[in-house]
Amino acid sequence: MKNILTFLTLTVVLLTAGCHASPTNAPATDTTMKFPVQKTDAEWHKQLNPEQYRVLREAGTERAFTGKYWDTHEPGVYRCAACGEILFKSSTKFDSGCGWPSFYDLADQKKVIIREDNSLGMERKEVLCAHCGGHLGHVFDDGPQPTGLRYCINSASLNFDKVDDTDKTVVGTNAPNGGNPKK
Ligand SMILES: [Zn+2]
Repeated sequence: MKNILTFLTLTVVLLTAGCHASPTNAPATDTTMKFPVQKTDAEWHKQLNPEQYRVLREAGTERAFTGKYWDTHEPGVYRCAACGEILFKSSTKFDSGCGWPSFYDLADQKKVIIREDNSLGMERKEVLCAHCGGHLGHVFDDGPQPTGLRYCINSASLNFDKVDDTDKTVVGTNAPNGGNPKK
């Protein structure tokens, strides 16, 4: 009897796990993906400017060399323009020559979701914000060491916050709480 119960419990656990499809297999417009930040289309339209909306919510791509951060070299952090999460650090930004901000690593591995993107007849890996599901860009395996990765990210998906060199605190105002670290 105990064995049967164990078996049933296991089956339930496995079935439940199977219900949560991996986000990496879902299409870009799949609304069943559950991110901590959930907003309606109308709310995103209100919060984001048209270019940010096109990139973040419709997986658009800004034209190369037109974004505000492709040539930024100052020390600081790059936040998701939609939800304020810190996604990248200036210490891992490098000049890729591609015309988009490029990073060889993430601020934290848990901050983004990578999924297959076979649109436009290409096999690419799409980078999404794990907090709000916003489209950030793509990751390629032709980056510099130590990771060998190149996160090619749209400026429109990012907000840059400078770091004060003297005390190393972030002094920008792009955080959801207005950049006040005490909150
Ligand atoms: Zn986000």
